[in-house]
Amino acid sequence: QVADSLHVINAFAQKYFADILMSNEEGQDIGLSYLKQRGFREEIIQKFQLGYCLERGNAFAKTAIANQYNPEYLQKSGLVVLRNDELMDNYRGRVIFPVHNNTGKIIGFGARIIKKNDKAPKYINTPENELYHKSKILYGTYFARQAIDKQDECLLVEGYTDVISLHQAGIENVVASGGTSLTQDQLRLVKKYTNNLTIIYDGDAAGVKAALRGLDMALEEGLNVKLVLIPDKEDPDSYVNKVGTTAFREFIAANKKDFILFQLEITLKDAAGDTTKKAAVVNQVAESISKINKAEDFTKQQDYIRQCSEILKIEEHGFTTLVNKFIR
Ligand code: ATP
Ligand code: MN
Ligand code: MN
Ligand code: MN
Repeated sequence: QVADSLHVINAFAQKYFADILMSNEEGQDIGLSYLKQRGFREEIIQKFQLGYCLERGNAFAKTAIANQYNPEYLQKSGLVVLRNDELMDNYRGRVIFPVHNNTGKIIGFGARIIKKNDKAPKYINTPENELYHKSKILYGTYFARQAIDKQDECLLVEGYTDVISLHQAGIENVVASGGTSLTQDQLRLVKKYTNNLTIIYDGDAAGVKAALRGLDMALEEGLNVKLVLIPDKEDPDSYVNKVGTTAFREFIAANKKDFILFQLEITLKDAAGDTTKKAAVVNQVAESISKINKAEDFTKQQDYIRQCSEILKIEEHGFTTLVNKFIR
């Protein structure tokens, strides 16, 4: 029943914050204008049920208490915090992104600061509670499921705004891992919907690193993985807003790489002319291929071994032996 109570509180909070965003003066001047300046149109703001929490004090907490919501559960929800014996709003001065479960009920929130600074975290997310288990959630699944089904492919991005911007651009088969620390549970969730995963992480060092890690994990889960690297310093949200919908779609289509080519390209470039480094690349790729170890994927593994030994200009038999060494 704790979970039920949290659902009810979250639904109430979503409506409250959305009302503030659309109808309150501060909500419009600060929250709504921030979202619009980032390129989000009203239709998409409403679809994703975005909101705004007022800067000062405890307006939400007071309203919730006045509406008979239990203070203990309000704290559990992460929406309010106890400060000097007083319940305060936790997401003050932030834009609110509700997180939905597969039936469209709200299980938590992400709250983004309007102006980045060093003192406060850019995003605050709902703490772990009976409803919200960060490692098992993919943001956007409720809005993406039909499109994932239809296209038999799931795009994976890092953040809330990436999901929303891509929807606005008509790309709806997209979910977010909420940062770069992808979990095996999240991949299992993808696997329930489709076998085909395309990772589109940010074009920074963290994004590339996370993409390579996600790749190995996804292979272990038995997914067919492709990767797209967004150009340096951009992410799917900023890039689609920069180049426009058509160019973005073309970029994705042209740059979608099979994992093996992706990994080889990145690491071979880095190893150019250095035999020690090249040996490390050979090992790394062999290990990735070894992760495709389900019996039914045997042909796929053979294909990868053939392609890779060709690209690396090494002998296929030796490479097969190396791959097998990584298989437990
Ligand atoms: P924006 O475009 O609003 O700056 P973003 O999604 O591009 O957001 P990133 O820094 O790329 O932000 O982070 C990706 C995702 O990681 C975020 O959407 C959020 O889910 C999560 N995240 C980022 N910073 C934090 C933080 N300080 N605490 C918790 N989660 C965070
Ligand atoms: Mn990032
Ligand atoms: Mn961004
Ligand atoms: Mn980003």
